[in-house]
Amino acid sequence: MIIDGKKESAVLREEIKKEIISIKNKTNKIPGLTVILIGDFAPSQIYVRNKEKNSKEVGINSNVIKYSKDVTEEEVLKKIEELNNDKDVSGILVQLPLPDQISKEKIIHSIDPSKDVDGFHPVNVGNLASGYHAIVPCTPLGCLLLLKKIEKNLSGKHAVIIGRSNLNGKPMAQLLLKENCTVVITHSKTKNLKEECSKADILIAAVGVANLVKKDWVKDGSIIIDVGINKHGDKIVGDVSFEEVKNKVKAITPVPGGVGPMTIACLLKNTLECFKARLT
Ligand code: NAP
Repeated sequence: MIIDGKKESAVLREEIKKEIISIKNKTNKIPGLTVILIGDFAPSQIYVRNKEKNSKEVGINSNVIKYSKDVTEEEVLKKIEELNNDKDVSGILVQLPLPDQISKEKIIHSIDPSKDVDGFHPVNVGNLASGYHAIVPCTPLGCLLLLKKIEKNLSGKHAVIIGRSNLNGKPMAQLLLKENCTVVITHSKTKNLKEECSKADILIAAVGVANLVKKDWVKDGSIIIDVGINKHGDKIVGDVSFEEVKNKVKAITPVPGGVGPMTIACLLKNTLECFKARLT
């Protein structure tokens, strides 16, 4: 089975849109998402444009604040403080990567955790690790939602994650632990990566190496979630050799059209959750 991320994302976005309309009818309020974009890095421009378009489509008031690449850290921190105190702003997102003069750590720490739609603030990271309510990073959240479409009960499954980034691997591990999976996190220093992967009922690949996972790395009947987005010749491919793996497994996400569309839908979901938490 090919997991259709585009379809699942459309379903989720429609649910979000309906809920926003319903809240608006009762309260005359709508969620607001402010994105800070620094510099002219082309992929960031595309991501932010997409976030803005998708936000507007579901009825979120989207606002993009743009700075040139030589803006000072102080100026950005001042703006974040302003946004933290703005009651019309439900969610704040600072598009990464940042130019060298700006500390990613300082920026992430400065965002009010209750408006941290990326789920990167240590308060949200800690709450997720402790099993408490947290704003969860959008990509792993999207992966979990796709997994649950295939298998409602993940309890006892052997899950292997390739990659240990704060963005993907680590929060994914926390989410799967919460689902009672047995979780193994692997990375570039892991010995016998192939052998580790071949034990997985659920394999999450978040690496950034084109077609790393081959047919003989995966278990018959497993579920494969491919987070990777890699340029390969003139194509975009994932971390998994899709064509050779797809007939061996129970379900697999394609690249493109798998995890990517869910990531953006989960950003809208997080924005709505932040908005709802402030409604009372
Ligand atoms: P990252 O921060 O570069 O982390 C990559 C991880 O993979 C690291 O933990 C690294 O190990 C590990 N790794 C690298 N080469 C390896 C190898 N040969 N064998 C085993 N492990 C290896 O990347 P990221 O931000 O998590 O992103 C990963 C991929 O997901 C990228 O392709 C990115 O474009 C994509 N992505 C997709 C979405 C989406 O919406 N679909 C969202 C975000 C990112 P070490 O820790 O030892 O270095």
